[in-house]
Amino acid sequence: MRGIPASPGVCRGRVLVLGQDRVEIVRRVILESEVALEISRLEAALVRARGEVQELQQRLAVAIGAKDAQIFEVHLLILEDPVLLNESSRRIREDHVNADAAFGEVARQYVEMLGGVDDPYFRERAADIRDATQRVVNHLAGRGRRDAPPVLDEPAIIVSHDLNPSMTAQLDRTKVLGFATDVGSRTSHTAILAKSLGIPAVVGLHEISKFLVSGQQVLLDGHTGTVFLNPTDQTLFEYGQLARRRVQFEERLREIREQPAVTLDGSRVILSANLELAQDSGSIREAGAEGVGLFRTEYLFLQRDSVPDEEAQYQAYRTVAEAARPDAAIIRTLDIGGDKFIPHLEMPQEVNPFLGWRAIRFCLQRQELFRTQLRAILRASAHGNVKLMYPMVSGVEELQQANALLDDCRAELRREGLPFDEAMEVGAMIEIPSAVIVADRLARHVRFFSIGTNDLIQYTLAIDRLNDRIAHLYQPTHPAVLRLIQMTVEAAHRNGLWVGVCGEMAGEPDLALLLLGLGVDELSVSPASVPRIKHLIRRCRLPEARELAAWALEQPTGAESLVRAQEMARRLAPGLFPDGVPTDRSGEGAVSSEPAVT
Ligand code: PEP
Ligand code: MG
Repeated sequence: MRGIPASPGVCRGRVLVLGQDRVEIVRRVILESEVALEISRLEAALVRARGEVQELQQRLAVAIGAKDAQIFEVHLLILEDPVLLNESSRRIREDHVNADAAFGEVARQYVEMLGGVDDPYFRERAADIRDATQRVVNHLAGRGRRDAPPVLDEPAIIVSHDLNPSMTAQLDRTKVLGFATDVGSRTSHTAILAKSLGIPAVVGLHEISKFLVSGQQVLLDGHTGTVFLNPTDQTLFEYGQLARRRVQFEERLREIREQPAVTLDGSRVILSANLELAQDSGSIREAGAEGVGLFRTEYLFLQRDSVPDEEAQYQAYRTVAEAARPDAAIIRTLDIGGDKFIPHLEMPQEVNPFLGWRAIRFCLQRQELFRTQLRAILRASAHGNVKLMYPMVSGVEELQQANALLDDCRAELRREGLPFDEAMEVGAMIEIPSAVIVADRLARHVRFFSIGTNDLIQYTLAIDRLNDRIAHLYQPTHPAVLRLIQMTVEAAHRNGLWVGVCGEMAGEPDLALLLLGLGVDELSVSPASVPRIKHLIRRCRLPEARELAAWALEQPTGAESLVRAQEMARRLAPGLFPDGVPTDRSGEGAVSSEPAVT
């Protein structure tokens, strides 16, 4: 199955399909008058479950061959077994319990009976009964999806229709080998988080959560976006070879960990890391990054059941500041909304959340919450080179209002005698086209810009960054996007500001070359991408990157620019790109040659 590679790495293991499993059975005592209704509900659920299995069997037979699809034959036999229906109906009638409880109990007894037999064949059949009957239970329960993270008894690859960032943030990473989802894209926050957790992920697999059944064995390749069901020995062998070569190349990249990100012609680039969780601060140095270019503070809120108070936030920001010191730690104020919702913040459901109550808009209306965060960031600035950054700025008013609140907080802290860095730099994210257009005005209120290309691309091209159906239209090299970046860089430099890029674009070698050519001063990428991008920077000459960018700016479409940027990246850093093995567009794939690491 082919999807969109979202987080590099390869894993192999059993899948746990969310949304199919573990729907809680609610037991309810029923009236005599409800008996007939419950029995017909059960019959209908059985019919739906059988239909679902037949449909999957047919689709799977087309996709992977009739032999593998036979697994569903057993499931059909189970769902057609008259004993299951008769015994459950008897319980509904005699015990006066709802269909969910009656059927659930009968199914459980079957599973226990077979599971207890000391024979692997019977134990497998017990698993089949569990899978098949779970479909019925799901239908009876209205197939509600659970939002709580799954509790994993053993390591598994999570398969789900979707994973929201809050559930992803709570996954036990020692148990989650990887994940695969029906929907999603490379710049969804779930994908970004997977990368930062080092969990291989493939998204946009359309109906994988319907095809697979918990317990099946897969091999998941987050470099190419491929998921193999029941991988053959040959596939496993090839992947073993590939993995060894990848590890060797990664090890050789470690040689440049302490080296600066400087081009062959001597231009210095700040190469920093994006960070999602304060407890991962160690990954900054480990990766060889020059500080933190973006700390996404919202995960601190997403990982808890209540709003973290000033002290808890201060401790987290201080951890990041101290880990980055003497380099900068750019702490972004809360960017909630869009695809990140915090249940305990009472946020309403919106029709267009990416155009809605998000980030700075939310904070300016929830001032108490915002002030708490501003105070915590200011206090953390006493412990390192902290810079503060506002997300989703669309115009000057927001900056004025936010800066006024920040000034209030500074005055409060002075009165309270709490130390902070009076010279702390404040910056704005440039990720909305209106902000680019008025960048010269914004420049009067901040000291730096950081371009958030993930959002800038979606808002410029009107392409939902989460929607896998239109992912092919999400084009970082679209001339409109390149021009907006160029305009931002020019406005920044004209006004004496420095400018970085912290969107995913900066972590992709071909696109990073374009960004360097467009004149950005800083690239902030996931820790896993730092060594690769550093390797590339150290092999490139700035005039050549400038030439590439100037040429791309003149192209009518983005396609040619992408090809040329890829060619240049491959030529400069062939080690980042495999020969003869599949890889994704970003070049995060395997290594087959052994170029010198410089
Ligand atoms: C961006 O939009 O590019 C960005 C870095 O912010 P986020 O991905 O958190 O929206
Ligand atoms: Mg953004």
